[in-house]
Amino acid sequence: MPSNQYRPTVPVRVGDLVIGGGTSVVVQSMTNTETTEIEATTQQIQALAAAGSELVRITVNTEAAAAAVPEIRSRLNRHDCHVPLVGDFHFNGHKLLENHPECAKALAKYRINPGNVGRGSKHDSQFAQMIDCARRHDKPIRIGVNWGSLDPALLAQLLDENAACAEPRELAEVTRDALVESALQSARFAEHQGLQHDRIVLSCKVSSVPELIRVYRELATRTDLPLHLGLTEAGMGDKGVVSSTAALAILLQEGIGDTIRVSLTPEPGGDRTREVRIAQEILQNMGLRSFAPRVVACPGCGRTSSEYFQQLAGEVEEHIRQQMPAWKRHYPGVENMTVAVMGCVVNGPGESRHADIGISLPGSGERPVAPVYQDGKKTVTLKGADITEQFKKLLGDYVASRYQSGANDDSSPATANKT
Ligand code: SF4
Repeated sequence: MPSNQYRPTVPVRVGDLVIGGGTSVVVQSMTNTETTEIEATTQQIQALAAAGSELVRITVNTEAAAAAVPEIRSRLNRHDCHVPLVGDFHFNGHKLLENHPECAKALAKYRINPGNVGRGSKHDSQFAQMIDCARRHDKPIRIGVNWGSLDPALLAQLLDENAACAEPRELAEVTRDALVESALQSARFAEHQGLQHDRIVLSCKVSSVPELIRVYRELATRTDLPLHLGLTEAGMGDKGVVSSTAALAILLQEGIGDTIRVSLTPEPGGDRTREVRIAQEILQNMGLRSFAPRVVACPGCGRTSSEYFQQLAGEVEEHIRQQMPAWKRHYPGVENMTVAVMGCVVNGPGESRHADIGISLPGSGERPVAPVYQDGKKTVTLKGADITEQFKKLLGDYVASRYQSGANDDSSPATANKT
């Protein structure tokens, strides 16, 4: 499925993956373990990759962390986990990459923050050292600008120029310019140092949704390099999910964004893989990629006689999650399936008819029967105390017959709507 219909970008190879160039938007994530804790980091990378992260970034901040990277890579390989690793460097990346060639080799990409490569006269030489290392090891880089660590020299220069203008602009506007300029100037610098154009990904992260949208719209008009999207410091819980979704959805809808990360702050002891699932949900709900069958469930209202349909929706989702590893292997295309679980006759039959397979449960006052629809037609009416089990069985049979190799004719109502 094409990911980026409006803004063609240069394809950047990262290990076996390609970012940009019209390929699907790549989901990535970052560990929050100390990289020196090799086993914990390896396990978290495996969990993120198993959840669907196609790239995983790890912190490389000390000599010990850099020394740990090759061992992490080997352990992952031994576990048959080949997800590319990105090294996140700040302040001392030039030294770490130089001192640890095995680390430089084990990483598939280097993230470089131009605001944190060195101050004053050291900036260019240390940045050049990192580019030289990327070139020698044939690695792409991400120039990752962040407004919390914006290059102070560049910002000061743009502020001075602005102050000298007859009609100076707002500080926010100048800061936005500085973010975009920092990314573009750094890319030009990297190319000047010999890095190929198609070895660079850009990002310009801020923590405000409207600002992020403005920054990326500007960036997208000024470069053909692929863009890594993410709202930095999105926050915890609902706030983090909503703000990231709002920002990313608007940009993705405009064709902006070639790889995404949802930067959620996990609850204490929370599951790091949540950020991967949210990223997948954003892409799937935007119609850009399919990762798992979509369960359409109504919210319920005063017409529903009990919470039964909510339980059924939850159980169907869980059943699909459990079956997906096997279904994916045996039934290609199953991730495009839509399943409807509806609470009553008002919207139930209609929504079920639009799904690949759907069930409409009885609402209050309705006959205690549940019609099932497959490919737009009513096929059976379920009744009795075990409707959930009966429906799961029908679902399994439907998947087996519809998605066995060569059986997917793409003619169902739900599939037709997606194309
Ligand atoms: S389908 Fe029925 S139960 Fe569900 S929200 Fe609509 S009216 Fe309420």
